Amino acid sequence: MSNQVILMSYTMYCADVATLEDFSKELPVGQLLERANRDRTPDLDEPTLIGGDIAVKPGADRNADPCTSTGCLWLKNADGNVYIPYYISNQYSSREAAIITRGLESFSSVSCIRFRPYQNGDHEWLSIESRNGCYSYVGRQGGAQTVSLARSGCLYHSTVQHELLHALGFNHEQTRSDRDSYIKVYWENIQDGMSYNFDIINTLNQGTPYDYNSVMQYEKYAFSKNNRPTMMPIPDPNVSFGQATQMSRNDIDRLNRLYQCCKYTVA
Ligand SMILES: [Zn+2]
Repeated sequence: MSNQVILMSYTMYCADVATLEDFSKELPVGQLLERANRDRTPDLDEPTLIGGDIAVKPGADRNADPCTSTGCLWLKNADGNVYIPYYISNQYSSREAAIITRGLESFSSVSCIRFRPYQNGDHEWLSIESRNGCYSYVGRQGGAQTVSLARSGCLYHSTVQHELLHALGFNHEQTRSDRDSYIKVYWENIQDGMSYNFDIINTLNQGTPYDYNSVMQYEKYAFSKNNRPTMMPIPDPNVSFGQATQMSRNDIDRLNRLYQCCKYTVA
């Protein structure tokens, strides 16, 4: 059996255990993120954002995927799971905290990612706070790293999953290294000074196909200055695009491959 076939068999196993709930009544994730971050006024201690909702440290190379250069993956436990501590700010009501917890727990049923509450002695963790807008750093940063889920606008299943996938190491689908084979970018429709949001990155595609309905894909009118589309699928402009309300099968597949979740589960 070739390596390719082995890879396919274990990732299929992972996808098979996924039971997806119905979030189709919520707005697509890209619309929610743009609406939440549109008129954002950051506090002085908040990070610069690129791509709409990706936090970057000062001096970071925007075009490099930090996961490929600095090893920003979370560490794997001997039992095969990846335990990631989190702390949820007490700013949230119990109903709001439940939305966040549901998002955190949604990774357990489809992957080896296990978010667990912060404990004394943890060296690195996600600090989930209601700051200005929705954002996350890409990958493990060391120490406490903020995942901002503003009470106003960011508390949806898709936005929680989206920001957590950033923290796990993923970038936006529209900045994938193979983007230009699947999407035409209409640069002339992009707001002035926003074209860097479409810079292609050396992303971690993990052999998975481009997915127009990835929870990491923004919608057609993202960062538009004139209500005309900034992105269209090619060659068929009418296929479903930017409609995700939760992680897609490809998102799950990619996650399982990046963290090698199921390597040892198939005989
Ligand atoms: Zn994002």
